[in-house]
Amino acid sequence: MEASVAILGTRGSVPVSGEAYLRYGGATTCVFLRFGDQVVVLDCGTGMLELPKVLHKNDQQIAVLLSHPHVDHLLGIPMCPVVFDPEKKIDIYGAVWNGLDVRQQVCAFLAPPLWPVGPDRFPAEISFHDLPDTFCLGNVTVESMNGVHPGGVSLFRLTGGGKTVVFMTDCTVTAENIPVLAEFARDCDLLLCDGQYSQQEWKGREHFGHSTWRAAAQLGTACGARMVRVIHHDPARTDVQLDSAARELTKLHKNCAFARAGEEILL
Ligand SMILES: [Zn+2]
Ligand SMILES: [Zn+2]
Repeated sequence: MEASVAILGTRGSVPVSGEAYLRYGGATTCVFLRFGDQVVVLDCGTGMLELPKVLHKNDQQIAVLLSHPHVDHLLGIPMCPVVFDPEKKIDIYGAVWNGLDVRQQVCAFLAPPLWPVGPDRFPAEISFHDLPDTFCLGNVTVESMNGVHPGGVSLFRLTGGGKTVVFMTDCTVTAENIPVLAEFARDCDLLLCDGQYSQQEWKGREHFGHSTWRAAAQLGTACGARMVRVIHHDPARTDVQLDSAARELTKLHKNCAFARAGEEILL
């Protein structure tokens, strides 16, 4: 079974554009996974607009796992070409946050005055589902746990065809919680982990719900991840800055890098 990953959006907090961001990308969080016939989208940031590039014609049913409803993780939905395709069926899974289920979270954003039309008006068939702790999407097992982030976040572990991908965006990774996170992510083939900040920036931002890239790489080593990609790049972080910080990552984990939009990984 083919297991592959396409990173469509890497940026945290808000999308950015311009010459400084061409290589690592300016679109917000979205990752596409293919496990044989099963396709899964992780988060609906503006990287979701690239979905048609990675979908095959017969990928009619698309599962979406939503980590949490902060706007940088939803912003791709209203202009994603896939929602305008009446052949597509999109199942969106997410936890209850702030007393709202996943449908209510998305509809709070996709409703006037913030947006003129709601998901019920999209030509694609969109369904919403509460996130179970553990469930199966076709041949893929999905497990989740809560991470540390203002308002809450779900962390995901997906296993299919003997390959495991762990997605930990918008979560605080510290020396204290590395053991429990490493247990959840143990022996994964690919760890996608929030690493928005440098060590210098961390002071004063400990409660923003993100991590340093050093903590992301350390978690990768602690859990035995075969490969680590650091995600949720700060909007101010340029390509040049990420290139120079990348050396620090490989000292901590031999296969750890900052995620680039457009990167495709065969697991
Ligand atoms: Zn975010
Ligand atoms: Zn967030």
